Amino acid sequence: MIVVLKPHATQEMITRIVRRVEALGLKAHVLVGAERTVVAAIGDKRGDAQLELESCDEVEKVLPILAPYKIASRETRREPTVVTAGSLVVGGGTIGVIAGPCSVESEAQIMLAASQVKAAGATALRGGAFKPRTSPYAFQGLKEAGLKLLAAAREATGLAIVTEVMTPHHVDMVAQYADVLQIGARNMQNYHLLQAVGEIRKPVLLKRGPSATIEEFLLAAEYILDQGNTQVMLCERGIRTFETHTRFTLPLATVPYLREKTHLPILVDPSHGTGIASLVPAMSAASIAAGCDGLILEVHPDPSQAVSDGAQTLTPAAFEATMATCRKVAAALGRTM
Ligand code: PEP
Ligand code: MN
Repeated sequence: MIVVLKPHATQEMITRIVRRVEALGLKAHVLVGAERTVVAAIGDKRGDAQLELESCDEVEKVLPILAPYKIASRETRREPTVVTAGSLVVGGGTIGVIAGPCSVESEAQIMLAASQVKAAGATALRGGAFKPRTSPYAFQGLKEAGLKLLAAAREATGLAIVTEVMTPHHVDMVAQYADVLQIGARNMQNYHLLQAVGEIRKPVLLKRGPSATIEEFLLAAEYILDQGNTQVMLCERGIRTFETHTRFTLPLATVPYLREKTHLPILVDPSHGTGIASLVPAMSAASIAAGCDGLILEVHPDPSQAVSDGAQTLTPAAFEATMATCRKVAAALGRTM
């Protein structure tokens, strides 16, 4: 249920309602908005609890949340959630661009990549230190040494760091170096990992699983939100279909559809979504046109030498040209990039 408090509710009023909700055996999530504060009361019990909450002085109305994802739903919060992590701002009309190599390979590579993407206008640096690879024999990442190199690149450029965490055991370690923790597509339904990143207070970029429905995707986000971490970004990165001309199929209708269903910011990853570098510029512009809040793009100083995902990786020059096109599309739609 959504418990809508009367306008200008004080902290004391909010605390009283939270206690009341908890006393009824429900979990309370406070969402403070510009106009109204609402308390999402989550649990199986309804009926009597609804009547009791409706009778409180502080409460204006109590509404059911119809979607299976409760905190992520637009029914709970109408205003867009804006995620901020250092130099990166995503949502509420501002488009963030996270760019960098698939994997952190060496100090020279990540430092050069960071300065190149920054010069072209990226607002955050990506780079995998722990890599989920299809083959156990493929490069698995530089691990903590890679995280240290990312932190050094932030030091040098001021760019926020986005990097993947693959297991709950590494959450504290990755959070020590990163500004945003990425949950990879293969881990979208790793519920213990989702809960572990829900317990920290750093933004999370959640990628859609290649065979997950949008409802499953939003329920995965709900696992993070339910632990109290409100800073969640969603990323469409392509799904598996019968089609083979691209690595995955990138469904851009996800963007306006998610916009209707959730207040969380929506990003698109055209690199993994297509798997082909020549298709990335057009799909980046199309993602902005579809109304996304951000892009995550693979860029390497020399894609032909990349240890992972070289075929889908932009050169710095192609990234610069992509940014120029995307800025025009964003401006045409009245968005800041
Ligand atoms: C990545 O961002 O390099 C990555 C592994 O992405 P995904 O989880 O979407 O495959
Ligand atoms: Mn990759």
